[in-house]
Amino acid sequence: MAAMKDLIEQAERDLLHTYNRYQVVLDRGEGNYLYDIEGKKYLDMMSGIGVFALGYGNTYFNDAVKAQIDKLVHTSNYFYNEPAIRAAARLKKVSGMDRVFFTNSGAEAVEGALKAAVKYAWNKDGAGDHEIIAMDHSFHGRTYGALAVTGKEAYRAPFGVMPVNARWAQINDLASVEAVLSDRTCGIIVETVQGEGGIWPAEESFLRALRRICDERDILLIFDEVQCGMGRTGNMFAWQKYGVRPDIMTTAKALGCGIPVGAFLLTEKAAAGSLTAGDHGTTYGGNPLACAAVNAVLDIYEKEDIPGKAARTGAYLEKRLDELAAACPHIVAHRGRGLMRGLQFDRPVGEIIARAMDKGVIFINAGPDIIRFLPPLTITEEQIDEMIAILKDCIE
Ligand SMILES: *Cc1c(COP(=O)(O)O)cnc(C)c1O
Repeated sequence: MAAMKDLIEQAERDLLHTYNRYQVVLDRGEGNYLYDIEGKKYLDMMSGIGVFALGYGNTYFNDAVKAQIDKLVHTSNYFYNEPAIRAAARLKKVSGMDRVFFTNSGAEAVEGALKAAVKYAWNKDGAGDHEIIAMDHSFHGRTYGALAVTGKEAYRAPFGVMPVNARWAQINDLASVEAVLSDRTCGIIVETVQGEGGIWPAEESFLRALRRICDERDILLIFDEVQCGMGRTGNMFAWQKYGVRPDIMTTAKALGCGIPVGAFLLTEKAAAGSLTAGDHGTTYGGNPLACAAVNAVLDIYEKEDIPGKAARTGAYLEKRLDELAAACPHIVAHRGRGLMRGLQFDRPVGEIIARAMDKGVIFINAGPDIIRFLPPLTITEEQIDEMIAILKDCIE
């Protein structure tokens, strides 16, 4: 087997360098632990950016995916397939939404949601200058449309004219939304809990106010649940805690637990008023393999009450991080919901994360000064204790 160092050198010769990666080649996973190709074991506190919600090597999930590979992997959307039909019905049930469009990723789910909002407005007035209100510090993906509503100037600046006219507001600041609202506004997009931007949960009053604005103006409210959805916050979807139903929501990341799949879901009203045959499509989206994964994930979520589990261990993680924050003067804030949390420091956290990696715990940041916690939803209290002990060590 090639040494880790050689493989990394080869990767840096061959892959387009768009990431500064951890200097680790991962090889396999087991439960909530990962192993690199040299056999070193790591406790996983990032789950592939909130994807591997069920941990590694779940037999039920693996068997379901393997069985579908042997049966039928792909059909295209010129045909119906049973796994997609089942997955759509079940997603409707757990979300309370009415219509489902399957995609291959989170960014593509956002693209579809944006197209639906713009088309909805276009159907009413035929104008071509509609605007979407998006939030500073938001992250919605790297494709052009998703980038256009991503609230980080540095990500957009080099890429010229954006395909969506975005106006910028601040999460939990209603006045900032009202300030940019106009007759051109066709939608508002917000992550129910901002992820990449630093773990900023939207407040119930803010979401209710957005709902009221969208109702009054007949424009569409979009919740991006790609990171905070699928049980992570203790509810199946984070907005369900408040019962503020969006017109469109996105999901991806944990939806297929590693098999690439996403979706955007609409209310009947948003669907009927927006995209129709010919308006949108995908070759892979909703293929039987991806949807078999979704069905297996939803089976396990239901059988093991994964969102309920995330609520309980999330409360434990909250308590342990509160204690750590109280004991460490360099920690300036602790935010989050369930098993989606951030610790903000008074300095960059890169060094702490590197030290933790040495000691066998994988963390991810959210901005330069925030350690983000996105463990598998199957993480145990003992594993949280193990993580806290090592993190404490690394901070000191
Ligand atoms: C990760 C993420 C996306 C983009 O998902 P991809 O699968 O990487 O395209 C969109 N929105 C949010 C909130 C995300 O966290």
